[in-house]
Amino acid sequence: MTRATATEAGAEKEKEEEKVGEKGKGEPSALRFRLVAVLKCSADLNEDAVAELRKFVSACNEGLLKRGAPAGCGAEIVSFKVLNGNIELEIHSDRFVRAHDALLRFRKNLAPILGKYRIGLRGIEVKKYEIEMESQGLKLKTLPFVKSISYSDGNIVISLDLTESDLERRIPDRILRLLEEKKEAARWGGKKEHWELLFESRRKEFFFNKDPTEEMLRRGWIRHGSARGQWIYGPQVTRLFRAFEKILLEEVCYPLGYVEMIFPKVVSWDVWKRSGHARAIYPEAYYVCVPKTRDPEFWEDIADYFKVTGEIPTEKIMERIENIGGLCYAQCPPFWVFLQRRVLADECLPICIFDRSGTSHRYESGGIHGIERVDEFHRVELVFIGTKEQVIEHAQRLRERYRIVFDKILDIEWREAWVTPWFMAQEGRAGVASQKEVGTIDFEGFLPYNGKWLEFQNVSINGDKYPKSFGVKLQSGRELWSGCSGVGLERWTAVFLAQKGLDPENWPDAFKKFVGELPEEVFKFV
Ligand code: ATP
Ligand code: ZN
Ligand code: MG
Repeated sequence: MTRATATEAGAEKEKEEEKVGEKGKGEPSALRFRLVAVLKCSADLNEDAVAELRKFVSACNEGLLKRGAPAGCGAEIVSFKVLNGNIELEIHSDRFVRAHDALLRFRKNLAPILGKYRIGLRGIEVKKYEIEMESQGLKLKTLPFVKSISYSDGNIVISLDLTESDLERRIPDRILRLLEEKKEAARWGGKKEHWELLFESRRKEFFFNKDPTEEMLRRGWIRHGSARGQWIYGPQVTRLFRAFEKILLEEVCYPLGYVEMIFPKVVSWDVWKRSGHARAIYPEAYYVCVPKTRDPEFWEDIADYFKVTGEIPTEKIMERIENIGGLCYAQCPPFWVFLQRRVLADECLPICIFDRSGTSHRYESGGIHGIERVDEFHRVELVFIGTKEQVIEHAQRLRERYRIVFDKILDIEWREAWVTPWFMAQEGRAGVASQKEVGTIDFEGFLPYNGKWLEFQNVSINGDKYPKSFGVKLQSGRELWSGCSGVGLERWTAVFLAQKGLDPENWPDAFKKFVGELPEEVFKFV
């Protein structure tokens, strides 16, 4: 009996598709989904089961697949057929009940019906899944899980290659979100990043009009390291770095109650997944790899090759190492593991900590000449954590302390601007002028030798971004916020020397107190 029904269906498979829905009903949105999927059953459906299925499909089209959507919207099973124990469905939908959600809803509610006939559901095969939307300037060649992309009449049609588990993991939703992001990026593409002047210092006296990097090179204060974008800092400029650090600690960190910590400098992918850097860091990361095994035998031929040729067989090495993440890029993300999945007592807020324990690394775009844009740089990172009010207030106090430093100690000309924070920029919202609470203030110093302004540090209010993604909670249940401030020592040096020059006689007395005497020449060359 069961067999006969299935064969019947099979014999007429081409034409017997049951037309149950009305296609192309009034569609308010331009987003369309077309899904063909096969629900695999543990046995053939008999006539009664098929009849009940037919009724169930109609009921779904009336109710289940419309639930939550405005009138006239939702998903619809436009046809189905039963063949060799498989139920093949074609579902069309709009944005309100996406076809894959409709399919999962349908399956869930079908299970008890088939159960009555002792038939179980084994799995889903996705035969076709197309998403059609307005292209709005999108020009894509490839996307994850995408078989093909075509364009017609200002629309883009994306054909997806998905398994059941991809549907359950909501991959189509994530692809849609990605498309929205790309459209947003295309929309902002031609526009500059948001930049709004907040403050400008008074004019200052300049004692220099050359590029300080050139002058430092001439005097032997610095020399290129052997790696890309890397300098070796001699005793004089190292003394300057340390003086800047001392000023920062004594005039900013300690008065504001900061305590020092040591953050890791190798950053795992798990950290970057949570911080959001995994969304965009790839062209700028310094990747870190570890050997697949520590067994010396595994590496012996590599060592032998070098001993014989004096060359490093880097391609062979690549096959034997494994990438685990990268070198410190933004400094504060790996700190958050310290608080991950923990509950903070309200009484310890605000928390103010800083790290100056190592280098940061970025693969910068070409033309790295000066010390101000390098692949390996030195930065002190301040992190502040508290309630929303505390964080906003602290950022303000931090700015005030910085102003004292730049005005009274370094005596430089600088300005402050409200800019798009990096985590919004990488979502393609570069031109978005966000509200004034979450966001970044860039501090820029004037470079007399080229008439440009250089960002030398920033203060960011990151909202609940980090506590949320690292699962950090507050005992009272109140919202936890954080902010951070990255102080680049190369950038402070570049700005200060560009305005004041390399001769200490032109440096402000307040600054000279922190520097002391510059070291005598240590190296003499012949
Ligand atoms: P830029 O736009 O100049 O590349 P950024 O926006 O990438 O700077 P952030 O990510 O905000 O910089 O980093 C915070 C601070 O780190 C900067 O203000 C700067 O002091 C320092 N910094 C960033 N990149 C470099 C670099 N390549 N060389 C030296 N210092 C850097
Ligand atoms: Zn930070
Ligand atoms: Mg940069």
